[in-house]
Amino acid sequence: MRVLSGIQPSGALHIGNYFGAIRQYVALQDGNEAFYFVANYHALTSVRDAGQLRGYVFDVVVDLLSLGLDPDRATLFVQSDVPETTELAWLLTTVTPMGWLEKCVSYKDKVQQGLPAEHGLFAYPVLQAADILLYDADVVPVGQDQKQHLEVTRDIAERFNNVYGGGGEVFRLPKPYILDAVSVVPGLDGRKMSKSYNNTIEIFDDPETVRKKCKKIKTDSTPVEAPKDPDTCPLFGLYRLFAAGDELADVERRYREGGVGYGEMKTRLADAIIARFAGPRERRAEWVAHPARVAEVRAAAAERARKTARIVLDRARAACGAD
Ligand code: ATP
Ligand code: MG
Repeated sequence: MRVLSGIQPSGALHIGNYFGAIRQYVALQDGNEAFYFVANYHALTSVRDAGQLRGYVFDVVVDLLSLGLDPDRATLFVQSDVPETTELAWLLTTVTPMGWLEKCVSYKDKVQQGLPAEHGLFAYPVLQAADILLYDADVVPVGQDQKQHLEVTRDIAERFNNVYGGGGEVFRLPKPYILDAVSVVPGLDGRKMSKSYNNTIEIFDDPETVRKKCKKIKTDSTPVEAPKDPDTCPLFGLYRLFAAGDELADVERRYREGGVGYGEMKTRLADAIIARFAGPRERRAEWVAHPARVAEVRAAAAERARKTARIVLDRARAACGAD
């Protein structure tokens, strides 16, 4: 299978990104042809400082390498290193009805909040379609929040195939790969954890910050002795991601019976987060100390990605007569 997914360099990566996406990236690099990219053109819709954007791009590449992406097995590239992406986006935009984009949530939300929206935010699902279709991707590992955008990608691909395919297939239709148990990781305030909501626990937060943030997780005033519902509690929802086996079963039972306080849970969670990312934290320090190696990974990946992209772009240009 061809696997493809991307992450925006719009801030530090958080544990929602890890469980919702990155862990699947790592699992799928074995036995598949995997392409993962840092979506810096997408981040331009929210980051407005050149130095900051460059820094975020470097950070995301390094984060992904530290979390287990192997540059020999997966192609880990930066979106703007593949100019074929924006070229394909134009071909796709000419067959995309306005109405499909008007109903996409990121644009709709901004307008509903009375905020001015740029054309880039409006057209962002088309660029995302180009990102995916350019690699003939079969599956796209993402969190639940990306499901709608992926449907738009499929719709655009079908439309292009119908208009220009002459009965054949110009683009392969990709499928989302969403794991139910981790599809929406809750943030400190109980909403979806998101870089833009300021409610994240970052993967590479230092241990002190992790402890501080865990203490801030929103809970109700149920006393220690009272039974609690693990299925609706965001604190337990986070804990569940890190614990397993007997330990998880035991805490869950005590949660339902009463006897576990939120304070204890916050300490348990912080301990688990710090332990889980200790290894990646060490590997990250290694990569950060060797930026030339990071640049090599990036350059080699760009070359591999462009080779594949070129084939699909040429096919699309020929299909619509723009060759
Ligand atoms: P932004 O707020 O800038 O959109 P984000 O935190 O939503 O940032 P993205 O770069 O948009 O992060 O998403 C990267 C990947 O992580 C996507 O596949 C997305 O579905 C997934 N993801 C993001 N947040 C969560 C979450 N809370 N739970 C599960 N998956 C998530
Ligand atoms: Mg997002």
